[in-house]
Amino acid sequence: MLETASETKRRDAEAIRFMVTRTFMDVLRQTNLAPLEVLEYAATAIGTMYRDVADAHTWPRECPCGWEPDMMADVAMLKSALSAAAIPELDSPLARAVVAGNA
Ligand SMILES: [Zn+2]
Repeated sequence: MLETASETKRRDAEAIRFMVTRTFMDVLRQTNLAPLEVLEYAATAIGTMYRDVADAHTWPRECPCGWEPDMMADVAMLKSALSAAAIPELDSPLARAVVAGNA
C-alpha cells in the first residue's frame, strides 16, 4: 500500500524528533549541562542551520531547488512551531484571542 503525503510528512517528522531526542539525551549524559542549556544550544544550532541553508539559497550561491528564503516569515514560522510544540495551550483559539486582546 502506498503512503500518502501526510503519512510521509508524519514519518519524516517522527524520524527527526527521534534523532534530535537521541542527541539531546546523549549530550545530557556526556556533559554537566542543564536540560535548558542543552535546549538553548539546540535552538541556537537550528538558527545557525537556517542561516547557512538560507545563505546557500541566496545569490550568488543559489541552490537549484527553487526555495527562496524569507527570513522574517521563515523565522516567525520556526518560532511558532517551537511555541506550539512546547506550550500547546497557547495554540488554542482562546489563548490566541487573549494574546491579541480580543477575549
Ligand atoms: Zn535548495
